[in-house]
Amino acid sequence: MTDSSSNNVQLAKKFENGVYFTCEMCGSCCRGFKEGEVYLYQDDIEKLANHLNIKGASRLREFAKKYLKVVNDSFFWKEPGAERGKTYRFKNLGFRFTGEDEQCHFLVDNKCTVHNARPFQCRAFPIGWNMLINSVKNFRDYSKKCPALQNSLENKGKFYSREEIIKWANEEYEMERDFFLLMKKHHFNIYKVHKFLPKDLPELEK
Ligand code: SF4
Ligand code: SF4
Repeated sequence: MTDSSSNNVQLAKKFENGVYFTCEMCGSCCRGFKEGEVYLYQDDIEKLANHLNIKGASRLREFAKKYLKVVNDSFFWKEPGAERGKTYRFKNLGFRFTGEDEQCHFLVDNKCTVHNARPFQCRAFPIGWNMLINSVKNFRDYSKKCPALQNSLENKGKFYSREEIIKWANEEYEMERDFFLLMKKHHFNIYKVHKFLPKDLPELEK
């Protein structure tokens, strides 16, 4: 059962009145990325580059080579007025991981070393993740790795109201939509959208 009070955000019934969540800073979600990615949007890259004092095209290229890879992404889109939409598959940018347990480069001693400039996806977890707040099953699956989500399922932690959740989840939706539309405008060529990218960046399978 879902709620459709916002056009772009659907809340599972369990989360209709809010979500409890306090991160325990265990760092577990910043490693072991075998099944996941940290997606990076324009804003994320700009903030991170500024934070790390990376300026100029050649330094941005070095940054990309060290920290980024091209990953697969998808978005469901219905043209205005169209009867049906479809899921588009395209490329996006994500963090490269490091070490055997595939951890984020910026995780040191279980702490995020770029906390103030961490990507939206990290800041918005879990209330800005539509795939979590619209599915109790997904929420439970993720809770196997995250003690704060386990607590949340028992209504423990800081309380986020329905309005706050919808605001964050809308922000996620709009950011993904805007990136999709930009990619579409550039015929899904990521090297035209991110002009600083070196052409030999590692890519996930096509
Ligand atoms: S796994 Fe959960 S508790 Fe641990 S750092 Fe990530 S969000 Fe916080
Ligand atoms: S940027 Fe920080 S919060 Fe995000 S995955 Fe890396 S270490 Fe974790």
